[in-house]
Amino acid sequence: MDRVYRKKENCYGCTACENICPKKAISMKADEKGFLYPEIDSTKCVDCSMCEKVCPYNCDVRKTNFKQRYFAVQNLDANVVFHSSSGGFFTAISDQILASDGVVYGACFDEGFVVKHARATDKSARDEFIGSKYVQSNMAGIMQSLLLDLERGKMVLFTGTPCQVAGVSSFVMKKRHSLDGLLLCDFICHGASSPMVWESYVDFFSQKYEGGLTVYQFRGKKQGWHQRYPIIMNKEKELSEEYRKKDSYLLLYQTCFANRESCYSCKYTSYERASDITMADFWNIGKVCTEMDDNKGTSEILINSVKGLEWFEKCKEYIRYVECSKEDVWQPHLEYPEAMSPKRELFWNEYHAKDFSEILAKYGKGDFMTKMKNLITPIAKKIGIYVLLGKLYRLLFVRKEKADDR
Ligand SMILES: Cc1cc2nc3c(=O)[nH]c(=O)nc-3n(C[C@H](O)[C@H](O)[C@H](O)COP(=O)(O)OP(=O)(O)OC[C@H]3O[C@@H](n4cnc5c(N)ncnc54)[C@H](O)[C@@H]3O)c2cc1C
Ligand code: SF4
Ligand code: SF4
Ligand code: SF4
Repeated sequence: MDRVYRKKENCYGCTACENICPKKAISMKADEKGFLYPEIDSTKCVDCSMCEKVCPYNCDVRKTNFKQRYFAVQNLDANVVFHSSSGGFFTAISDQILASDGVVYGACFDEGFVVKHARATDKSARDEFIGSKYVQSNMAGIMQSLLLDLERGKMVLFTGTPCQVAGVSSFVMKKRHSLDGLLLCDFICHGASSPMVWESYVDFFSQKYEGGLTVYQFRGKKQGWHQRYPIIMNKEKELSEEYRKKDSYLLLYQTCFANRESCYSCKYTSYERASDITMADFWNIGKVCTEMDDNKGTSEILINSVKGLEWFEKCKEYIRYVECSKEDVWQPHLEYPEAMSPKRELFWNEYHAKDFSEILAKYGKGDFMTKMKNLITPIAKKIGIYVLLGKLYRLLFVRKEKADDR
């Protein structure tokens, strides 16, 4: 697949190349880990190189001519905060887009718990996007639909991983359409996990309980925002406590064994963003604004463009907010990607060789590094050495180069 990507780590799976190809020569195919990669049908290809040019790995679409601003935010509606991953900023901004007769794109579950991107023109469809899903979402059909909305003159909000946002931005530009009607929101990103591993987890429940999963909320807040307590239900009972500290998808996700190859050298783990607004969890809020440190959830917001600032202004009636500094919002994935563990290959070998219940029993408690991070991070924050520790971690464990540095 030389034309679109040379190495797997150079492809984010954003689908921009598939959508730009004038001959429909590209289709997205799953690899042995369940991640989608473009495949070219050479009998249709006319060597126009549009796929290379649109690829966000090859071109830089980050916005660098705006003096970035930083905010801590909580939605004024406590119910929204409770159901959101952090402080419910996504609901505030998407409410504004819907109120201006706009369209919102985001990630949701389908009936089989497959994570995919979808389109919403009302609050009930938009509500399906609320909450983080720690799985790479399927972007099939999204870029063409979004372009059509822009051509109809609709205001469009696209929310997704930083690499998906970069792909959308590059695609719209290569289609020579103005970006004026497109608001791009990404988040600080820990990495996208394999849809195949998530499917195995969903199947595990179907085999164990009649009717399978009925609810899975990755970031439930029953025990507070800091607790990472997923809400898991089947039709008869809640299973959250049982699958929290062992057989846990969330702890497996935290090991990063199942992340996409590109996540370990990702150039979007940086303050420089392709989006207008970046959302995140304000984990360091205790050191910045004690009134917002209520364990209910606070969003960390980076404003990356004039358009982002204009839409942020429109939200102000519906949020409480405090402006902060660049240092206040620092977190690891604004500086470096997750480290690739030397045990990752073993994980995948075992995943393919064994029953998934065995994989979950072994990896669903987290690995040594995950346990250490979960233990040490809260202490480091309390005693004020969080940033120092983060930088030390980078020195010791993270690969030296990001895609950007090469
Ligand atoms: C895979 C992933 C990794 C993340 N890593 C970090 C991190 O390292 N540090 C950090 O501070 N925050 C991280 N976040 C962001 C954080 O969890 C919240 O999503 C963010 O703070 C917004 O929260 P909210 O309360 O405003 O809204 P919410 O309602 O919780 O936000 C949901 C938004 O996320 C989008 N979304 C959800 N799942 C996906 C997905 N699989 N793919 C693409 N878009 C998705 C939805 O479209 C919607 O826009 C991550 C989120 C995801 C999905
Ligand atoms: S070179 Fe052009 S025709 Fe060939 S796959 Fe790429 S976009 Fe399609
Ligand atoms: S990053 Fe996107 S555009 Fe580039 S090769 Fe992968 S799917 Fe295609
Ligand atoms: S870490 Fe980077 S490559 Fe991986 S999903 Fe996030 S933005 Fe994309």
